[in-house]
Parts: sequence; structure tokens; C-alpha cells
Amino acid sequence: MTAVKAAPFDPLALASRLGAAAEKAGFRREAFGEAGGVPLLALTRRTPGPRPRIHLSGGIHGDEPAPPLALLALVEAGEFDGRATWFLCPMLNPQGFSRGTRENAAGVDLNRDYRHMESPEVRSHVRWLRRQPNFDLTLCVHEDWEARGFYLYELNPEGRRSLARPMVDAAAGACPVDTSPIIDGREARDGVIRPPGDPAQREKWPESIYLIANHTRQSYTIESPSSLPLEARVAALMAALRAALEVATRDGA
Ligand SMILES: [Zn+2]
Repeated sequence: MTAVKAAPFDPLALASRLGAAAEKAGFRREAFGEAGGVPLLALTRRTPGPRPRIHLSGGIHGDEPAPPLALLALVEAGEFDGRATWFLCPMLNPQGFSRGTRENAAGVDLNRDYRHMESPEVRSHVRWLRRQPNFDLTLCVHEDWEARGFYLYELNPEGRRSLARPMVDAAAGACPVDTSPIIDGREARDGVIRPPGDPAQREKWPESIYLIANHTRQSYTIESPSSLPLEARVAALMAALRAALEVATRDGA
């Protein structure tokens, strides 16, 4: 069943705001496709010298408005500075926002489509990703309508310095943390899910699995609880992202 929840913004207007704010912040703005007349935005800002390359994405589920708003607020706040080279895809499913649905207009959950790539949105994103260098870190920003608090998934197969705890601790300043032992059907500890086994064996790939299989060796999917007021969810996501970026860029990562 598809829940219909109107987005608190018009996706075309938000895309314009995102693009304008990013250009002002020194980003290059590019559309790697479009959906329902709204550009699929990629915003890149390269810093000379050895810097971590960080990909942040959001808005893949059209009933989760906080992620694109959090990314916009971070762009406007100047968070994406000379500490890293940045790759932002802030609204991957504009039609979902137009329609108030998790899925795109064809009813496809884009975050299960990265293995078979049946949707034009995911195909366009992947085509764009293949033109980028590998990333040191990817952060996929989400919300969860069933969660009791903030939580995240960590994919860190090489055991690199974990960003999970700093993110959860930072989010806890803005919203509750979901401390359930089972979240989304998976074993969790203090708001952190580390999916066991080889996630690439799954039949349907979320964006994070595709990224870890092809573009990065460390990836997080962060989730704010949709039951809270929008401002609290945006604040929790921003706090978690800021914490991750601080640690990831601290010593040139
Ligand atoms: Zn989601």
C-alpha cells in the first residue's frame, strides 16, 4: 500500500533553490536527467589537493521531505567547504514529491532499483555516478515512517574508522534515538544496524548497496523518524551529517 503524504514543498521550486544556493556556495550545478519536468540535480564542488571525496544523496523517497531540506540547509550554511570534494544528489525522486509517494510516478521504489535499474531516475543517476571518481564516503539521507527515533545503517566492510556513533550521538541532541533491538526487521544496537553477510547477494539493491559494490568502501544510510515535527527531523539529519563530515575530514581522511 502506498501512503500519500503531500510534500511541504514544490519539487521544481526546491530544485531551483538548491541549484541557486549551491552555485552561490561554489558548486557546479548539473542536471543528469529530469523527472516530471524537474531536473535531477548533481551538485559538485572540487577542492584542489588531496581531500576526501564525499557523496551525499537524498530525496529518493517522495514521502520523506526532510533529507532534501537538510541538504539545502547545509549548502546554505556553508557546510560544504574546502575540507573535501563534494558530490551532492539532493533530490533523486522529484515525481515522488509531486505525488506524495515513496515511489516514482511509475510506482517503482527507486531505492530497490539499483540492481536491475528499471527506472529512468536510477539509470540516470548511475550513468552520472560512472563518470565520477570513487568516493571515500557516501551518505544516503532518509526518513522512516515506522521508526521510533533516529537510526542508521553502516556498510563498512574494511573496518574503517566508524562514523556510526558520532552520527547517532549528534542526532540524539535533536531527536530520540531508536534503541530497539530489531529495527526494520534487522538486528540493531543503540540505533546502529550493521547488515550481516554480503549485501550484494540481495535480489533488490538500495542505492547504498550499489554504491558499496561499485563506488565506495564506506557507506551510511541515515533515517530520521517521520512521526516527529519536520523541523526536528531536519535538525537531526543535519546534526548527524555534520558529525560525520567533521570526523571524515578531520585528518584528511
Ligand atoms: Zn527512505
